[in-house]
Amino acid sequence: MHCITRTTVKIMTWTPTREDFTTYMLPNYNPQAVIPVRGEGSRLWDQDGNEYIDFAGGIAVNALGHAHPTLVEALKTQGEQLWHLSNVYANEPALRLAKTLVDATFADKVFFCNSGGEANEAALKLARRYAHDHYGAQKDRIVSFRQSFHGRTWFTVSVGGQEKYTQGFGPVPGGIVHGSYNDLDSARELINDDTCAVMVEPMQGEGGVTPATPEFLAGLRQLCDEHNALLIFDEVQCGVGRTGHLYAYMAYNVVPDILTSAKALGGGFPIGAMLTTDKVAEVFVVGTHGSTYGGNPLACAVGLAAVQTIGSAEVLAGVGRRHQLFREHLESINDKYDCFAEIRGMGLLIGAEFNERYHEKGRDTLAAAIKEQLMLLIAGPNVLRFAPSLIIPEEDIAEGMARLDRAIGSLSV
Ligand SMILES: *Cc1c(COP(=O)(O)O)cnc(C)c1O
Repeated sequence: MHCITRTTVKIMTWTPTREDFTTYMLPNYNPQAVIPVRGEGSRLWDQDGNEYIDFAGGIAVNALGHAHPTLVEALKTQGEQLWHLSNVYANEPALRLAKTLVDATFADKVFFCNSGGEANEAALKLARRYAHDHYGAQKDRIVSFRQSFHGRTWFTVSVGGQEKYTQGFGPVPGGIVHGSYNDLDSARELINDDTCAVMVEPMQGEGGVTPATPEFLAGLRQLCDEHNALLIFDEVQCGVGRTGHLYAYMAYNVVPDILTSAKALGGGFPIGAMLTTDKVAEVFVVGTHGSTYGGNPLACAVGLAAVQTIGSAEVLAGVGRRHQLFREHLESINDKYDCFAEIRGMGLLIGAEFNERYHEKGRDTLAAAIKEQLMLLIAGPNVLRFAPSLIIPEEDIAEGMARLDRAIGSLSV
């Protein structure tokens, strides 16, 4: 029983357990049994001092591993200077990061927020507002694709292509339609003169680690141009070095009107960004959109260090080499167990889809991997997903793969 008259906070220290999660946290997650307490590079240690190899990277976030000295330094330095101002004042870290992103991409302008979902929310609102101001209120249709994931706010989850995430929450916002990913004909049927935006992940992450075909993205660009619709690339998961390019659009050579970024952008510190051109940005006049924490100095100082480090030729080139290593290891695991139907992905976002014999063994593999002291991800019940640090040492890849081999070997099929 909670007593409403007791209003003080008791100061106490104790060591929380996994059971405390069930006691104190909402049941919308089901975390693994172990609680990591420390990380360094691509290794983590739990409360009992057991060491783990990290192939999950905090869901494609810790792109420089854990406790990277450059990021730690940026956080400490900024932490002693200034934490927060709000958007009533400009701040140096936000301006530095904005200029860095503008100089490195197609974009002229940047809006900062705190997460991928918020970046996409801003992108969708911007596209609606742009169409409204230039062409009229009827131009409000948003086209996206099944299996896509764009966040959990009500607008972004409705634009996302997985119905199970919107069921039971009441009426979804109007004007949203879904086509089939990598199917240009299906997009062509949906995109018309009332379309204000097409939102697409250049590589679907949550939906199964599926890269777009070059023809698909180029075709979307053309359809958007024909119908005065804005092309939005959701690069929340595939951006910031993940593909071996600073942003995935650079690999495809297809330039969007709006790009959203988060996850690896902060290397573990929460930050989101929406990038766009001057022409589109112009409609967000004072007061149209905002965020209390957006452009927070701590987040932007760490983000700047992350982008500068990841954006170096050395780190980006290393991603391709590591991709090859992951692929070779996964192929030899497949030779041994005959478990995968397909190994796919770009750079260090890699999916290994189970075949019929191992159908929907994803969750079991995560649990078996933890027993072998390996952290990895799934993308749906049937796909193992690898999103490690972009600078994961080669010996950590080899050791992690030896553990994955044992984990898969322990599954009963
Ligand atoms: C993770 C993700 C999001 C949502 O980001 P949050 O920071 O969780 O709000 C949006 N789009 C894609 C492609 C993602 O992978």
